Amino acid sequence: MRPYPINFVSIVIPVYNEQESLPELLRRTEAACQQLHHAYEIVLVDDGSRDDSAQILEDAASREGSPVVAVILNRNYGQHAAIMAGFEQCKGDVVITLDADLQNPPEEIPRLVEQAERGYDVVATVRNNRQDSALRRWPSKLINLAVQRSTGVAMSDYGCMLRAYRRTIVDAMLACRERSTFIPILANSFARHTTEIIVTHAEREHGDSKYSPMRLINLMFDLVTCMTTTPLRLLSIVGVGMAALGMLFAIALILLRLVFGAGWAGGGTFVLFAVLFVFTGGQFIGMGLLGEYLGRMYSDVRARPRFFIEKVLRSQPASPPSVVTVDGLSSTSSDQVPS
Ligand code: UDP
Ligand code: MG
Repeated sequence: MRPYPINFVSIVIPVYNEQESLPELLRRTEAACQQLHHAYEIVLVDDGSRDDSAQILEDAASREGSPVVAVILNRNYGQHAAIMAGFEQCKGDVVITLDADLQNPPEEIPRLVEQAERGYDVVATVRNNRQDSALRRWPSKLINLAVQRSTGVAMSDYGCMLRAYRRTIVDAMLACRERSTFIPILANSFARHTTEIIVTHAEREHGDSKYSPMRLINLMFDLVTCMTTTPLRLLSIVGVGMAALGMLFAIALILLRLVFGAGWAGGGTFVLFAVLFVFTGGQFIGMGLLGEYLGRMYSDVRARPRFFIEKVLRSQPASPPSVVTVDGLSSTSSDQVPS
């Protein structure tokens, strides 16, 4: 891992009905950024707020020499979509995301930048004293464990949005075409060196969480489908299990019938069960197969870049080698000139 030179830092903050928090957020974020030895911008994305948030952002951005960039979306698209909009507009070598409700202290920004400078592609944070209800904490723990298993990247807190991403990771995420996404996991699918630092977590002071139970469920599905198509494959696995059980059951019934006589057939009821198992299993296998096709289509529709080149080094100028065609067969060559 090599140090990463940073000239410009961008802070991206999604804002949805946060008018009470905004003045303090702006003040504290600017103060934290002034501690940096880099040029910076603070990109605030208004995600279709119904209060005065957009107006506050516009005012802040139109101040003389203001580092604030206000991005106003025409309606509410959700936190992760809003962050993506911010990514599209920012130009930093490293991009830091955080929440507008001041649950993530902006004072941590310099520490994140410092880690990114050391060469980490993604710097994540762990909330050491998470100030949310147990109802939010436990599902979140379970999900973290599942993600850890499936992405192979050991991170303990995917829910904390205070994170730093290197430019290449942001570009890779922007190149993904999927609509519903979960940014921390998407980022990890392109990251090589990641680290976590412990940060404090404050209680929400103004307003309520913008996530209703229904939106949380939606977010959870975004997270799972963004990470893997395994649930679709599970259908096939369940089907094979069921069909195999049915077969075993049928064989056991036949044996029992042969050994102990007609009394064991139970008037055909058990046989019916066995047949039912086999057919239901077959149906599940069929659904799983459909799922496999769907999963592949989903991957293609998302059109995530298969790889992302960080840089290309050449000792010679990059001119394409000439193509020589002999009897319909073509070959590339650098020293032959096509006639
Ligand atoms: N947010 C957003 N659009 C939404 C919902 C939330 O931009 O549709 C923003 C919100 O303003 C805040 C961040 O996303 O800056 C996190 O939201 P919240 O604090 O409600 O989530 P929680 O902390 O409860 O997970
Ligand atoms: Mg919050």
